[in-house]
Formats: sequence, C-alpha cells, structure tokens
Amino acid sequence: MPMFDFECRECKKRFEEIVSADSHVVCPECGSDELAKLWSPFAVGRGGASTPRCAPSIPAGGA
Ligand SMILES: [Zn+2]
Repeated sequence: MPMFDFECRECKKRFEEIVSADSHVVCPECGSDELAKLWSPFAVGRGGASTPRCAPSIPAGGA
C-alpha cells in the first residue's frame, strides 16, 4: 500500500499515513481533514528506475 506524507492545513502538522483506496485520512493532531498530500521520498523511491527487472531480455524477432 502506498504511504503518503500529509500536511494539515489547519495546524501545519506533518505526518505519514498508509492510504488504502477508500480510507479517509484526518489529522492526528486536530482531526481536520483539510490536508495537503505530499509525496514521500520513501514512497517515490520504490519501484523506480533503479529496480532491476527479473524478466530475461529476449531479442525481438528472434525466430
Ligand atoms: Zn491538524
């Protein structure tokens, strides 16, 4: 599941939350749902270009 950074627009509290498709995220500090979603470097770094793929490289049009 993706993890996002949020910043509360009410109290400026920043926190991380694992967000499923239908979850309703509120500020743990003041309970507001006025949140700005930030991209966590932790989440973005996953599955990027640095991840080696296990698929063998098959040349196109071999046979
Ligand atoms: Zn807040």
